Amino acid sequence: MEKFFLFNTLSRSKEEFKALKPPQVRLYTCGPTVYHYAHIGNLRTFLFEDLLVRSLHLAGYEVFHVMNITDVGHLVSDADEGEDKMEKGAAREGKSAREIANYYTQSFLDDFQKLGCRMPDRLPKATDHIQEMIELIQSLEKRGFVYRTTDGLYFDTQKFPRYADFARLDVENLEAGMRVGMGEKRAVTDFALWKFSPPKKKRQMEWESPWGKGFPGWHIECSAMAIKYLGESFDIHCGGKDHIPVHHTNEIAQSECATEKIFARYWLHAEFLTESSGKMSKSKEDFLRLKLLEDKGYRPRAFRFLCLQAHYRTELHFDWTSLDAAEAGYTGLLNRLRDWTRSVGQAGSRQGGLGSSEFVTQNQERMKQALFDDLNSPRALGLLFEALKDPQASVEEKTSLLLWSDDFFALGLQEVLSQESSETLGDEVQKLVQEREKARAEKRWADSDRIRAELLKMGYRVEDTPQGSQVLKVS
Ligand SMILES: [Zn+2]
Repeated sequence: MEKFFLFNTLSRSKEEFKALKPPQVRLYTCGPTVYHYAHIGNLRTFLFEDLLVRSLHLAGYEVFHVMNITDVGHLVSDADEGEDKMEKGAAREGKSAREIANYYTQSFLDDFQKLGCRMPDRLPKATDHIQEMIELIQSLEKRGFVYRTTDGLYFDTQKFPRYADFARLDVENLEAGMRVGMGEKRAVTDFALWKFSPPKKKRQMEWESPWGKGFPGWHIECSAMAIKYLGESFDIHCGGKDHIPVHHTNEIAQSECATEKIFARYWLHAEFLTESSGKMSKSKEDFLRLKLLEDKGYRPRAFRFLCLQAHYRTELHFDWTSLDAAEAGYTGLLNRLRDWTRSVGQAGSRQGGLGSSEFVTQNQERMKQALFDDLNSPRALGLLFEALKDPQASVEEKTSLLLWSDDFFALGLQEVLSQESSETLGDEVQKLVQEREKARAEKRWADSDRIRAELLKMGYRVEDTPQGSQVLKVS
């Protein structure tokens, strides 16, 4: 394994990563709450986590990755009040909570795959792990961390002196600001482990428990599933930065009080993707999701390319101009690779088939150093582009380096190229291509240009090669 450095939220500093049982790395990432589509801000976090997995692989680690699916218990408000997001989604669409969960889980996984993210090794659903959650609450209860109110079971944060440390919380100020609306909670930071079903309202998702019918709190779900699949102590836990003050703080409190062990040893958090109105949200009808980008003609991997250009710990502002630039940059990369593989022939389509040279290994080394330095993807990308411009290097060397980088940048370069070559063209397109070839043979250049423009309008670019015309899909 190569040296790897990560910025750990626990210490607020960059640390050398040491796995508990190398070469294995046990990783937990907070998954989606499947009550609605993911917005592209959510997706940025999943892309950062995928880059982490791929970079650890590159450094010689074997990653065991668990990501949960939250399909119950995530309330609209962080203060343990308000509706369950799942039931709210069901009411919004006139469907059952289960149907909502299935539909949005699938749509999330579609996005995930379109972006080129590797599937986690386990994808547990909260509703399949109610028993594990109940057991975890019981062990907290036995140790004296739980109290009961009329609406549920709560974790007593005053019994965990380190509670405020992780998020550097100013509890006194929180208390002063939140005296009202605390209900029967003893402290403003206390949180629900189990909520009772409301007495007069029938919930769609509820379970029997030793304390009464109800449903788990969102935080206990992640603790229970992480412990089940990764053990009481594991290597890395990730999520969006908004999870630091409540969700992850609570996960640490309940897990470490129940097991008396350090829960996760490295905590990594992705910064926000913002839009002009600020933090991204799903409140608008037509919010920014991957499908919207695709409908406007952008490719999912171009969005990935955009995200790679910013370090995961810097805020990234989203606007259409920068996505245009990313799409153009991505297309440029594809075009270059297309030209090069054509000129180097078959060898170029096989990864590693081009062998290595000093140019290749030196650049690989430099790019790896950037990635292993807290996933500095903008630097690694910059190095790649610099190398691709090097006039001293051969086309074979550049092709080899670019294809190698696809393992962790996951821009799907090879996929796109092989898809293009195998794609059969529609009848209309084929007819136009033939007409154009005839025009060229007869030196009717104006006709040939007109057909070329027509094809471009239909989304196909024609390139003339010594072997004849080649047609490429551009949108
Ligand atoms: Zn979580």
